[in-house]
Amino acid sequence: MGIVDRARRAAEEHGAAVVEELTVELGAATHVNPDQLRFCLEVATRETAVEGATITIETVEPLARCGCGWHGEPGGLEAAIGYAPDLRCPDCGGRTALERGRECRLASIEVPDGADGPPEEPTRRAERHDT
Ligand SMILES: [Zn+2]
Repeated sequence: MGIVDRARRAAEEHGAAVVEELTVELGAATHVNPDQLRFCLEVATRETAVEGATITIETVEPLARCGCGWHGEPGGLEAAIGYAPDLRCPDCGGRTALERGRECRLASIEVPDGADGPPEEPTRRAERHDT
């Protein structure tokens, strides 16, 4: 599963031993069941740095765009994606391309504080000189 590999690599880049949260963008036009995806990811992350991470799945609503300038939610998407991948533009009748809605990708990972970026300055205790 490419998503898990990418998450692991991202964690390594951040020098993080563990990943707290994994956010995945899932296009509605993929017809992938989010629960099923979550389950697959949980299985795929076992015994990796990503194991135990909270998996957040964000659904991306489909958006189609046509050469004539029209863009919007493709109508009849359920049928269109299932049987014929070409969607018709309601304005000019031409073919439109799905611009969004087919993604299944890693959006972000959360690693524990301190593992990301430069080390934080230790908290300094403000000294009080109000003698
Ligand atoms: Zn058009």
